[in-house]
Amino acid sequence: MSIRVRTQTPREIAGETSATITEPETETGSPIAPDREDIPTKTPLRDPSDPLAPIGIRSPEAEASPDTLDLAPLDKVYLIWMVGASCDGCTVAVTGATHPRLEHLLQGIIPGLPRIELIHTVVSVESGPEWVHNLFMAEAGELDAPYIVCWEGSVMDESISGDGYWMGLGEDPETGRQITSLEWLDRLAPGAAAVVAVGTCATWGGIPAAKGNPTNAMGVMDHLGKDFISAFGVPVVNVPGCSPIGDNVLETAAAVLLFLEGLAPLPEFDELGRPAWLFGETVHRHCPRAGYYEEGVFAEEYGDKECLVELGCWGPVVQCNIAERGIVDGEGGCMNIGGICIGCTMPGFPDKFSPIYETPPGSLLSSTTSRAVGGFIRRMRRVSMHDKNMSPRWDDDAPSGFSRNRRGPRGAEKIVHKFYEKYQHSKETGN
Ligand code: SF4
Ligand code: SF4
Repeated sequence: MSIRVRTQTPREIAGETSATITEPETETGSPIAPDREDIPTKTPLRDPSDPLAPIGIRSPEAEASPDTLDLAPLDKVYLIWMVGASCDGCTVAVTGATHPRLEHLLQGIIPGLPRIELIHTVVSVESGPEWVHNLFMAEAGELDAPYIVCWEGSVMDESISGDGYWMGLGEDPETGRQITSLEWLDRLAPGAAAVVAVGTCATWGGIPAAKGNPTNAMGVMDHLGKDFISAFGVPVVNVPGCSPIGDNVLETAAAVLLFLEGLAPLPEFDELGRPAWLFGETVHRHCPRAGYYEEGVFAEEYGDKECLVELGCWGPVVQCNIAERGIVDGEGGCMNIGGICIGCTMPGFPDKFSPIYETPPGSLLSSTTSRAVGGFIRRMRRVSMHDKNMSPRWDDDAPSGFSRNRRGPRGAEKIVHKFYEKYQHSKETGN
């Protein structure tokens, strides 16, 4: 399998069509390896007033927003967003973030946070040689502010790509040589203030690294190694999710930026580099259906309102905060809207959660126990609820026109309530 993203070549820029281009052969037959000195190359636009020039050139000339509130030494930070094997879902997720909003970071109007200058493979204004020129500037230390690398998608192993390449990102303007995304990661990571892996593909390998894995796909941390430390002393930061919650990504970025500004300590990360405050709890603990689980009531089909564990939900063992945070602006998110948890934030995803949509083997024991214990508790609560739904003067009958059957506890229920009432007030009376 070969996945190729082709940028415009210097010859295409010069006006030649792909039909007229004959790729030079190298010793290995690779169409991408040779130096192509004979090919006319395009010099990136250099005029800082040109909106299509590299942002690394435009930015030093740009005026700061009048709304900027400078509290710290860094006026701005470049955010270089790179991609490997990705579906762009992480980009979509981040553009939907609301706490903080991407546009507020770009405007630099959040007190204490530097303005973000975004160099993004999809949403940047400039493209082609102008876009790639930003990366050359970053590598050469020519940007006028520190940069953070955000990586979306798995890292594919170019050493097994044979005569081709898995993913390219621009060309060397001197030689026309295709530069791979992986090469850029290797060139930019050491000088970055921080490297943030965004989404499950970038953190642990994700879908491209599933069984079979023809590209030997892996996470950024796998590739850079456990000893990697950024120029500002930060190991790889991992924000998983497929796609991740946009707020999780930007909140983590904001926390790291506050650290870089000297306004806050390094945020707490767990042993896998996840923001501890976001991934410390299981999704089950905050799930709106957790009460059903506790009382041993389970959905039989999608659309039911009860706990989804018997339909395949892995929530009890998965670290994720979507139940309380929602997916966009507090809304939506997996079981909030009726979907099961398939473990998409976890390093074992997807293989260790397969087959998806089957009842997790371990859930049988816990759901059976919950049925037995929770079933008893649920019945006892119903007795109590019946009583608490009656005002003291209705203990015989509620005068509600909505239900002819509304009546107070009878028989055994009444005896239970009598005992409970005695016990309830025993501390006051001392009897
Ligand atoms: S739906 Fe999933 S996460 Fe929610 S209570 Fe049931 S098992 Fe837990
Ligand atoms: S609840 Fe499960 S499937 Fe949904 S985002 Fe979290 S980890 Fe992924």
